[in-house]
Amino acid sequence: MMHTPMIKRLQKVVLASGNAGKLCEFKALLSPLDIELISQHALHIPDAPEPHPTFVENALAKARHASQLSGLPALADDSGICVVALDGEPGVHSARYAESPEGIRSDSANNAKLIHALQGVTDRRAWYVAVLVLVTRAEDPQPVIAECIWPGEIIDAPRGQNGFGYDPFFYLPEQRCTAAELSPEIKNQISHRGQAMQLLIQQLQARHLISVSQAQ
Ligand code: IMP
Repeated sequence: MMHTPMIKRLQKVVLASGNAGKLCEFKALLSPLDIELISQHALHIPDAPEPHPTFVENALAKARHASQLSGLPALADDSGICVVALDGEPGVHSARYAESPEGIRSDSANNAKLIHALQGVTDRRAWYVAVLVLVTRAEDPQPVIAECIWPGEIIDAPRGQNGFGYDPFFYLPEQRCTAAELSPEIKNQISHRGQAMQLLIQQLQARHLISVSQAQ
């Protein structure tokens, strides 16, 4: 007798990131879905190396690593800020753009380095990018992948207290404010991560990994 393999609905997912800002945003983004999101740090899973030159390769490596060590489906996000006048830098290096020789990273050092690199530059166009990858198991042959970008401009003086990372310097001409001046709810609706999550949810639904009612 032939057995049709059962597709298991996602119930518990490990988030392959130790970034507190991202965890907070993902918890809110996934809250309408009946999915328990556990940070990999809560499971004592160390950060995966991110040696690759592309966001998608790094996100896939992070998701496979977290799934391998947890035995759970894993969701990873590799994201960053890309500046037109800097040929797309900091890009995949966004988190470690101004890393010290001792390996210390901080948002303030990253922002200071970015503003310094743009001194005297009039072209301030930039975009955030988020690539989300979900694997149902470490060896998943068909990871679910979604990508979105969010255009804006880099300003010289910080504005706003919300968000994280480069948000106080990321100005949105349409909203007439920075990403750090948006409420968390609005940022999640319009950001690179929020939009990529909507695309991911559509694919999870099409793959029967979440039910239609979960996605509404
Ligand atoms: P990674 O994906 O953990 O390698 O790091 C992404 C880095 O890009 C973060 O540490 C931030 O510096 C930056 N970044 C990504 N998304 C955002 C965002 O929504 N706001 C501000 N900075 C971000």
